Amino acid sequence: MKLPDLDYIRPGTLQETIDLLVAYEGEAKLVAGGQSLMPMLAFRLLAPKILIDISRLPGLNAIDIGPDGVRLGALTTWRDIERHAALKTAHPLLAAAIAHVAHYQIRNRGTVGGSLAHSDPASEFPALVTTCDADVVVHGAGGERVVKGSEFVLGAMTTSLEPDEMITGIRFPAWPAARRWGFEEFARRRGDFAMAAAVVFYDLDAGGRAADPHIGIIGEPERAVRLAAVEDLLTGRVIDRDVIAEARAIGEQAAQTSDDIHTPAKYRKALIGTMIERALMTAAGLELRPVAA
Ligand SMILES: Cc1cc2nc3c(=O)[nH]c(=O)nc-3n(C[C@H](O)[C@H](O)[C@H](O)COP(=O)(O)OP(=O)(O)OC[C@H]3O[C@@H](n4cnc5c(N)ncnc54)[C@H](O)[C@@H]3O)c2cc1C
Repeated sequence: MKLPDLDYIRPGTLQETIDLLVAYEGEAKLVAGGQSLMPMLAFRLLAPKILIDISRLPGLNAIDIGPDGVRLGALTTWRDIERHAALKTAHPLLAAAIAHVAHYQIRNRGTVGGSLAHSDPASEFPALVTTCDADVVVHGAGGERVVKGSEFVLGAMTTSLEPDEMITGIRFPAWPAARRWGFEEFARRRGDFAMAAAVVFYDLDAGGRAADPHIGIIGEPERAVRLAAVEDLLTGRVIDRDVIAEARAIGEQAAQTSDDIHTPAKYRKALIGTMIERALMTAAGLELRPVAA
């Protein structure tokens, strides 16, 4: 379908962008890579008066790595992340998970800010922001504010952004080199949206036990969530096959899934359990046992 009639403007600065958002009082839509917005417009799921093209705003596509962590400008694309060699050691989980996002044509244009603002529950990036408790940096008429990753996505395609605000960056806390981690995703084809995924990391204490585990899942209908029940189970434990089997069972039970056009709720729960198991096996350096014939 063709796009609906609308106006288009490309501001040159962040302040001009905010002024336009204020002037249009919720009737404008920002467009960055357009990979999610354009289909929504074509399907008439949105009808803004004007598109504000932020794709060329200066200074918003930098990847900065420092002692405090990794900062991604909102206009950083999946391709920028993929090509950034230092990210693979500065934040290996981020680099590995982003490899699952979409197909290369979309990866060239799609941005981290667009993904987070769109907040599709099946998207990898909001799950990373939630599980890593990254800071989301937002600019609006009131200036800058920082929102905790766990509080940014409120539900399916719903965030805590005000109509006069835009995301300018995302800050991931520093990643200790010895941290254990795993990311596992199940999608029908590589590059499709996830049907289920698990984001897992923990540190090791002096006795080799898991400290401060973070377990996030994709597969619930509203948004990616952390599973406190699994995190509690893992805290202070040596992560071996028995603990992982327990984590899988508890994760499967804790996940709140529902029937949808892709899968019955029960099947998605089982997938989530399997993703948690596989991600923990990777994190612990254990090999998956082949399924008996
Ligand atoms: C076939 C297909 C497969 C895909 N597969 C996946 C996948 O497997 N995993 C995945 O995560 N994604 C997937 N995507 C989505 C893709 O990753 C998009 O790039 C991403 O979701 C949005 O980024 P964008 O820059 O294109 O945003 P846009 O489409 O430009 O914008 C999306 C929304 O975000 C708002 N927005 C954009 N930038 C900002 C900002 N800085 N501040 C505030 N609001 C902003 C827009 O107003 C709009 O509401 C897929 C898309 C397609 C078409």
